[in-house]
Amino acid sequence: MRYDFDLFVIGAGSAGVRAARFSAGFGARVAVAESRYLGGTCVNVGCVPKKLMVYGAHFSEEFEQAKGYGWNSGEAHFDWPTLIANKNHEINRLNGVYRNLLANSGVTLMEGHARLRGPHEVEINGQVHTAEHIMIATGGWPQIPEIPGREHAITSNEVFFLEQMPKRVVVVGGGYIAVEFASIFNGLGAEVSLMYRGELFLRGFDESVRTHLHEELAKREMDIRFKTEINSIEKLADGTLQLSLNDGTTFNTDCVFYATGRRPMLDNLGMETVNVELDDKGFIKVNEDYQTTEPSIIAVGDIIGRVQLTPVALAEGMAVARRLFKPEQFRPVDYRHIPTAVFSLPNIGTVGLTESEAKKDGHDVQVFESRFRPMKLSLTHNQERTLMKLVVDAKTDRVLGCHMVGPDAGEIIQSLAIALKAGATKQIFDDTIGVHPTAAEEFVTMRTPTR
Ligand code: FAD
Ligand code: NDP
Repeated sequence: MRYDFDLFVIGAGSAGVRAARFSAGFGARVAVAESRYLGGTCVNVGCVPKKLMVYGAHFSEEFEQAKGYGWNSGEAHFDWPTLIANKNHEINRLNGVYRNLLANSGVTLMEGHARLRGPHEVEINGQVHTAEHIMIATGGWPQIPEIPGREHAITSNEVFFLEQMPKRVVVVGGGYIAVEFASIFNGLGAEVSLMYRGELFLRGFDESVRTHLHEELAKREMDIRFKTEINSIEKLADGTLQLSLNDGTTFNTDCVFYATGRRPMLDNLGMETVNVELDDKGFIKVNEDYQTTEPSIIAVGDIIGRVQLTPVALAEGMAVARRLFKPEQFRPVDYRHIPTAVFSLPNIGTVGLTESEAKKDGHDVQVFESRFRPMKLSLTHNQERTLMKLVVDAKTDRVLGCHMVGPDAGEIIQSLAIALKAGATKQIFDDTIGVHPTAAEEFVTMRTPTR
């Protein structure tokens, strides 16, 4: 054999593990290198621990709502170290599951930092291995803007391991992570300020969703500041962090959490030894086969900077495994109709085009929108409202987008994504019998266009 392996994967995250396992299952000789944690960002410092913390944050409102249903469980008390310890225990269990998955599928796992040595060579733990194909699946890393005092700030890498919950937290950014963690800390009882540089957070999401979530978060007494930037952070003698803001004021807090996007993780990867081109944001450029400008090197997942979501990383890893080692089963990744959820409290669920995207694409747009108080809250004092919205092409009757803000939006949107992918029309939505009484049935009972 010319090479030690058919495929050498760098990074055992969502994309790398999927590609490695399936390639080995198709009979390829596969190695995977991992420098930090099996399962990558999603399992260790991303989707999984985040969702556990979202569950944790839900309880405060549920204890409150339970009173309307006759329950009185006394004064509720939250203990952060218990949540973190139990979360760590679960993540350790998942790391073990990933280890077994790789071992059982015949993948050679190498633990350590991997470095490219050339188009077919990878060095790890002082040894050089050769491979016909090398896959870069090294993911991303949180980035903090270059401001004085940035060393006092934390990111999503640290937030999961804080020893105590800060009483006051400033969350910086207006994307998925900022909105989710502002909700988590708010639900767990911290005083939260969310500071975003733009006019309204969640750029790219449907306008109604953005404004609705803003209203709902404000009802939860979250201090939300748009057009706000931090110029510097100073640590005072008592440990308080003093922020200088762009409006000339100062703001004191116990913790500053930056969620201002993620950069590609290419640190010390030996990129100078290969001819792999990067795009203008520093992500790896690939063609439709995920091949880089160095033909033997493939890149998938967050490192290519397309859609930074685990199910997309899995689909890309799978597509490469099939293309290389089971071509008869190859199917390209379909980047249209990717459903997504923001696990804020309340959740956002969305699939397809936003109203403004649909208009920009030239559709004759009809909008169906409904806002209502969820039934579960009817015996409580909680005034939260749910938003559901359908964006429809008036000419073809095709449903172009479904958007929701409300409990379980992520769960509900998954099934609607199947309908959209199947090309469902509004008529098909209307002809579908609802499940009663649920919130989800509203998606099949909106009859009159609001616009
Ligand atoms: P990663 O999962 O980052 O894996 C890359 C791996 O490569 C890492 O394990 C890293 O240690 C390893 N590595 C890097 N360099 C080297 C090297 N030189 N040698 C050896 N190993 C190396 N997505 C969702 O779909 N839903 C969510 O709810 C969600 N929540 C998120 C919450 C947070 C806080 C964050 C940060 C992300 C979240 N994401 C979520 C995004 C999701 O985690 C990523 O899209 C996904 O993990 C990308 O997978 P990947 O395989 O490309 O990279
Ligand atoms: P996002 O790209 O979603 O958001 C980054 C935010 O930071 C934006 O609001 C952006 O503002 C702002 N920002 C960027 N640079 C600066 C700066 N220099 N100063 C101030 N603000 C800045 O990144 P996240 O870090 O939230 O998450 C990374 C990715 O991980 C997400 O895009 C998503 O793909 C994935 N993820 C998915 C989740 C899910 O599926 N539920 C949950 C968490 C993460 P602006 O809009 O003005 O550019």
